[in-house]
Amino acid sequence: MPKQVEFDVNVKRNYRFRAELHCSNRWEERMYRAPVDEIAFTLKHVAGLSSDLDQHVLGDLSSDLVDAILAEAGRFAAEEVAPLARIGDQTGARLEQGVVTMPPGWKALYARWIEGGWNGLTGPVEFGGQGLPAMLHVAALEMWNSGSMAFAIGPTLTMGAVEAIEKHASDELKAIYLEKLVSGAWMGTMNLTEPQAGSDLNALRARAERTGDGTYRIFGQKIFITYGEHDFTDNIVHLVLARLPDAPPGTRGISLFLVPKFLVRPDGSLGARNDVHCASIEHKLGIHASPTCTMIYGDGSAGEGPAGAVGWLVGEENRGLACMFTMMNNARLAVGMQGIGVAEAATQKAIAFAAERRQGKATGYSGPGMAPIVQHPDIRRMLLTMQALTRAARSIAYSCAHATDHARLPGTGQRFWQERANLLTPVAKAFSTDVGFDVASLGVQVHGGMGYIEETGAAQLLRDSRIAPIYEGTNGIQAIDLVTRKLPQSDGRHVLDYIGELGGVAKDLASSDAPGLGRSASLIAAAVDDLSAATLFLQKCLAESRLDEALAGATPYLRQFALTAGAAYLAKAALADAAGGRAALCRFFAENLLGDTAALKETVVGGADALEAAASALLPV
Ligand SMILES: Cc1cc2nc3c(=O)[nH]c(=O)nc-3n(C[C@H](O)[C@H](O)[C@H](O)COP(=O)(O)OP(=O)(O)OC[C@H]3O[C@@H](n4cnc5c(N)ncnc54)[C@H](O)[C@@H]3O)c2cc1C
Repeated sequence: MPKQVEFDVNVKRNYRFRAELHCSNRWEERMYRAPVDEIAFTLKHVAGLSSDLDQHVLGDLSSDLVDAILAEAGRFAAEEVAPLARIGDQTGARLEQGVVTMPPGWKALYARWIEGGWNGLTGPVEFGGQGLPAMLHVAALEMWNSGSMAFAIGPTLTMGAVEAIEKHASDELKAIYLEKLVSGAWMGTMNLTEPQAGSDLNALRARAERTGDGTYRIFGQKIFITYGEHDFTDNIVHLVLARLPDAPPGTRGISLFLVPKFLVRPDGSLGARNDVHCASIEHKLGIHASPTCTMIYGDGSAGEGPAGAVGWLVGEENRGLACMFTMMNNARLAVGMQGIGVAEAATQKAIAFAAERRQGKATGYSGPGMAPIVQHPDIRRMLLTMQALTRAARSIAYSCAHATDHARLPGTGQRFWQERANLLTPVAKAFSTDVGFDVASLGVQVHGGMGYIEETGAAQLLRDSRIAPIYEGTNGIQAIDLVTRKLPQSDGRHVLDYIGELGGVAKDLASSDAPGLGRSASLIAAAVDDLSAATLFLQKCLAESRLDEALAGATPYLRQFALTAGAAYLAKAALADAAGGRAALCRFFAENLLGDTAALKETVVGGADALEAAASALLPV
C-alpha cells in the first residue's frame, strides 16, 4: 500500500473509533479542577488546622484567608499550570551549547508564578516571604503538582534552598541570596548525587579547597540535578555537597557550599560567570520539562578566572549533611505531594472518562444503549480505590505538615512535634509517591486502550509519577529510615503513643452513631492492634541487634503503617462530617483495602527467614 493511502486509512479508522468512544475532542474538557473544598476540609478537620485557628496559634491567619489562598492557588494550578503540562511533556527541556531552553510558554508561566507571589508563600517575612504555615504550603503544592509535576518540582527545590540557607548560612549570604530566592527571581538547586554516590553519600567525591579569603573552590561532577540549568531566571543558586582535603571519611566529612551560576557583586548585580556548567540533560520516562542535568564544577571551561567554581560555606565545615537534611526533609514531604497531586489528577480524569465511555450492560443502568462504564462494579472498585488512597495519603501528608508547623512554635511541645514530623515524613514521602504511581496506573486501566494512548493524558501521569518513589531518597531508603531512626525515638514511646492515638479514633468510631460506617470501627481497631504488634516486633529486633531481620520487613511495615494511619484519618474525616460520601469512603477503605494490613504484618514478623533463604535463588545461573 502506498504511504499516503495507508495514512488516510489510519486517520479514518481513528476518526470512527473516536466517534464510537462518544468522547471525541473532549480531552481538554477533562482538565484538572482543584478540589479546594476537600483540601480545606482535610486541613481543617483531619490535620488539625481548625483548632490551630481557633486557638490563634498561627498568628492572625483566619479560616477565610486560608480558603482564599487555597482557592487562588487552585485557580493558578488549574488555569495556568495544567494547560501547559502536555506541551511540556511533548517538547521537553532542550540543551543546546550549554543553554537549556524550557518548553514553549513555560518561561511566561514562571513569570506569572513569581508575579503572583507564590514562590514566597512560606518564605521568611524578613526576606519578602509571606511566612505562611507548612500546611498551606503542602496543600498548594499538591494542586500545582496536579497541574504539572515537571513545573512544580523547580520551585519546590528553590523553597528547600531558602530553608537551608535561612537556617544555616551566614548573615552575609542571607543578605545576598535570600530575597531573590524567596521572590523566585533566582532559583535554587540541590546537588548531592554523583555517579558512584546515590543512596550512599559516604561515597561522595566532589572536592572543595580553601582559598584563604573565606571562599572555597569546588571541583567535581554531580548528576541528575533537577533544574540545574534553565532559562527561567538569570541566576541559579546551587547548594553543593563536597569534601575538604582534610575531611574525615564518610558522611562526617561532607560540607555544604553555595555556588551561584553568576557571582554577585556587592550591589547585588550579576558579575562574572562561575566555573560551573551543565554538560548534558537526561532523556527520561517522564517529567520531560524538568531539566535533569549533569553539572560540572571547576573544570575551567565556564568561569573567567582560574579553574574551580567559587563557593561559600553553608553551616560549619564537615557538618554539611545535617544542613542539607533541612532541605531534604522539606523536599521529602514536597515529593510526597507530587504523588498526591498526580493521584488526584488521575482520579478526576478516570471518573470523567468512566462517566462518558459506554460498554456492555449493567444492572443499575436502564437508559438507552450501552451502560456508562462507571456503572460496572469493577470500574467503581478501581475509582473508589483511587479516591480512597488519594485521600488517605493526603491526610497523612497534611498531618505531617501540621506537626512541622507545631515543631516551629516556641514552647514545651517542640520536641514532641518534631518527633511527630520525623515519624510521618518518610511515611508521607513513600506512601504518597507509591499511591501516585498505583493510582495513575489504575487510571490508565479505567481508560482501557485509550489509557495507553498519549492523547488522554492518563499515560503522561503514569510516566511522570514513576520518578517520585525514586528521588529524594528511594522509598526503600524511607522505609529503612522509618524503622531504624524513627521507631526508636524517645526510647520507642513516640511511635507507640501515635499508634495509641489511631486506636483512639477506632474507639470514637465504635461509640459514634454516624450512619453508613459498616464494620469500619472493628476493622480499624484490628489493624491498629496488628500495627502495634509489628512495631513491637521491629523494636525488639533493633534492641537485639537483629538488624537484617528488621530491614527485611521495613518496606511492608511502612505500607502497613500508612494504610492503618490512612484508615484512621478517613474515619476522623467521617466523624467530622459523614456527609459528602466521607462515611462511605471510610467504610470502603476499611472493608476493601485495609485487609492488606493483616498480611503485611505477617510479612513483617515472619518474612525475614524466607527472604534470607530464598536469596540463593538470585545467584547467577
Ligand atoms: C529525574 C531525576 C531527578 C533527580 N534530581 C536530583 C537532584 O535534584 N539532586 C540530586 O542530588 N539528586 C537527584 N536525583 C538523584 C536521585 O536522588 C537518586 O537517583 C536516588 O537517590 C537514588 O540513587 P541512585 O540512582 O544512585 O540509586 P542507588 O542508590 O544505586 O539505588 C538502587 C537501588 O538500591 C536500593 N538501595 C541502595 N542502597 C540501599 C541500602 N542501603 N539498603 C537497601 N536498599 C538500597 C535503592 O533503594 C534502589 O532501589 C534525581 C534523579 C532523577 C532520576
